[in-house]
Amino acid sequence: MTLKELKIGGSAVITEVGGEGALRQHFLDMGVIPGAEVKVLKYAPLGDPMELLIHGYSLSLRLADAAQIKVTELDKDIAAEVEEPHRKHREHPGLGEGGRYHEAHHEKNEPLPDDAKLTFALVGNQNSGKTTLFNRLTGSNQHVGNFPGVTVDRKDGPIKGHPNTLVTDLPGIYSMSPYSSEEVVSRSFVLDEKPRGIINIVDATNIERNLYLTMQLLEMGVPMVVALNMMDEVTANGGSVDINEMEAMLGVPVVPISAAKNSGVDELIDHAEHVARYQEEPMRQDFCDDNDCGGAVHRCIHGIAHLIEDHAKRAGLPVRFAANKVIEGDELVLKQLELDENELETVGHIVLQMEKERGLDRSAAIADMRFSFIQKVCRETVKKPRESIGHIRSRRIDKLLTGKFTAIPMFVLIMGLVFWLTFGVIGAGLQGLLETGIDKLIALADKAMKEAEVNEVIHSLLVDGVFAGVGSVLSFLPIIVTLFFFLSLLEDSGYIARVAFFMDKALRKIGLSGRSIVPMLIGFGCTVPAVMATRTLPSERDRKMTILLTPFMSCTAKLPIYAFFAAAFFPDKSTPIVVALYLLGIITAIFAACLYKGTVFKGDAVPFVMELPNYRLPAAKNVLQLLWDKAKDFLQRAFSVILIATVAVWFLQKFDMNLHMVKNSEESILAAFSGVVAPVFKPLGLGDWRIVTSLVTGFMAKESVVSTLEVLFTGDVTTAMTTLGAASLLVFSLLYTPCVAAVAAVKRELGKKWALTLVIWQCALAWVIALIVRLVGMLMGGV
Ligand code: GDP
Ligand code: MG
Repeated sequence: MTLKELKIGGSAVITEVGGEGALRQHFLDMGVIPGAEVKVLKYAPLGDPMELLIHGYSLSLRLADAAQIKVTELDKDIAAEVEEPHRKHREHPGLGEGGRYHEAHHEKNEPLPDDAKLTFALVGNQNSGKTTLFNRLTGSNQHVGNFPGVTVDRKDGPIKGHPNTLVTDLPGIYSMSPYSSEEVVSRSFVLDEKPRGIINIVDATNIERNLYLTMQLLEMGVPMVVALNMMDEVTANGGSVDINEMEAMLGVPVVPISAAKNSGVDELIDHAEHVARYQEEPMRQDFCDDNDCGGAVHRCIHGIAHLIEDHAKRAGLPVRFAANKVIEGDELVLKQLELDENELETVGHIVLQMEKERGLDRSAAIADMRFSFIQKVCRETVKKPRESIGHIRSRRIDKLLTGKFTAIPMFVLIMGLVFWLTFGVIGAGLQGLLETGIDKLIALADKAMKEAEVNEVIHSLLVDGVFAGVGSVLSFLPIIVTLFFFLSLLEDSGYIARVAFFMDKALRKIGLSGRSIVPMLIGFGCTVPAVMATRTLPSERDRKMTILLTPFMSCTAKLPIYAFFAAAFFPDKSTPIVVALYLLGIITAIFAACLYKGTVFKGDAVPFVMELPNYRLPAAKNVLQLLWDKAKDFLQRAFSVILIATVAVWFLQKFDMNLHMVKNSEESILAAFSGVVAPVFKPLGLGDWRIVTSLVTGFMAKESVVSTLEVLFTGDVTTAMTTLGAASLLVFSLLYTPCVAAVAAVKRELGKKWALTLVIWQCALAWVIALIVRLVGMLMGGV
């Protein structure tokens, strides 16, 4: 039977993994290998994908992929089994001079000179606590999340108190095979930038799956320490790890830590410094067993390792690593090795012989070898914790949040609640308060300057320009911070991963996979991090498509525009108008996705294979840090881009071409320039040059639309356009080009051509849809 046919609650052992290429490799790397035991936990509300228990963690995958996996049903429940480790007591090898794993090397290895910079790569699975540890090590404050792949940018910094060191936080990866662009980044970092040491962070609550990456890192022969993280959770639930035995089996120092509780981190630093200073390679790089199924895999790996040794050295690749990659058929490594025809043929024969003897294909055989070794290590050293309270809680919460009938209503409810709290309760209250404060301040400054008889031009610049412009935007600070607060709460708690899980089927209809929902939701906050978050998507096609769709989500910077016009033109209908705009953005994105799917991005979204992390309550410190960052970011923008834009606009509307101050801004430089562009907007009912100007400044930062209008309209905006004009303006500003920062982010990800195309395409689309809105409005009798 296939995995797809297995009933909920049923356990089985995998006999065969179908499929091909990178995806199949990814399945194998995630532990879906022949011989592994699985249990079906549940199906997503729309019936697809399914959630499995495998190697002690939850994995979700699509039914179509499950249909390619053959299984034999077991009549036991694999989740119920608890294995006691076979314990032997072993002395702790200790650190440094007397240490068992250090001593041997000292004879041949001189320590690096004191002034040598010790560089470390922080490598680990997604969600293993890398960023938390990174922050502990460096004392900096990166964003911590509970979603697979929140770290998308490479970050580095020196270890606190150790000036001559540098730690780089790499994106979370499951394996060294290039499946997503992040795995390529991490792998080439270790291979090309040659850090002096690796700090491999392992989630001890999920040890089997995490050690899979450790095996591959050990093969690279780089000095390494294993940081066994989340030990607080393991011990709290009655689990334990025999550290000394594990060190002996892995041949590298293993340090139990809790990054969140800051325990064991100092010891980790000591060990890391030591292995890097003495350049101590892992004692063990060999995980094959000559007794395992006749030793077929063992002989194959060693045979190929000898065969390619010279090529690997020339290409600067660790031999063991290269040999395994050659067997797996890794294209990148094969290309680097430059084997000649004869050697390639020999490799082919050796692999074929191994496949025949072992009864598994090449990739499965290697994955199986690694997992067999891991199982041996775990059997000897790990006492599994009881099902943790966190996990029981997660399962309970999941019953509701991903239940068949409750998931989607709960999602709508949660998002509705988030928006209502942000705009209706917390944000709005604070905003009103701030607005009054700012108005009072402006009035005060106005009065003070009048009394001091300040020069009229300066007075006008400050009051009509800077204060009115920047002030109008500043009052949005509370709303923006509140929205980010809720989004980060959803992300950190692990809920967004669930949304990806149950939205997968729906998103596939428009050519995307469940994972694309993450950047989209972040897009409601700001397009820049949303575009960056797409790096976690495993396929280029999905990634490009998602990047091109995120700008349609209404980011927080567009809010001031909505609020400004809704208040002026639809005072008693402002909430439905804002809601309608958010929905219109989403609908346009769906429409655009269907269009892309049929034209530029033909083909299917990649399969969905993802780990569902436990729900975790985000630490208050992290949340506060994030809020502070966002507030700072916003204030910086208000006082740089937006301030400059308002001053420039003020200046351009106060002077004419001969730099004489004008009485009437109709004669100003700005009016002359904008007058040229204005006809384009005439059909939309937006012929007024001041409106056109504000839209142009909106390209710098969306908030500038409002600050510019504040400067340009001393009177009432309602005189400049009709209600229908306002409606088409709202639609236009929802959809037209993203701001400079977002375009720059797109350019970084996709290149100049795509960024430029995006700007033009969105402007055109916005123009057309705004026109349609106006025409429909006119047909319905509006003006
Ligand atoms: P990354 O994806 O590897 O960068 O992981 P993060 O640093 O973002 O952490 C993922 C989650 O694990 C967050 O919710 C952290 O608060 C939590 N976490 C990290 N370290 C520990 C730890 O030592 N103990 C416990 N209980 N939780 C931790
Ligand atoms: Mg991280």
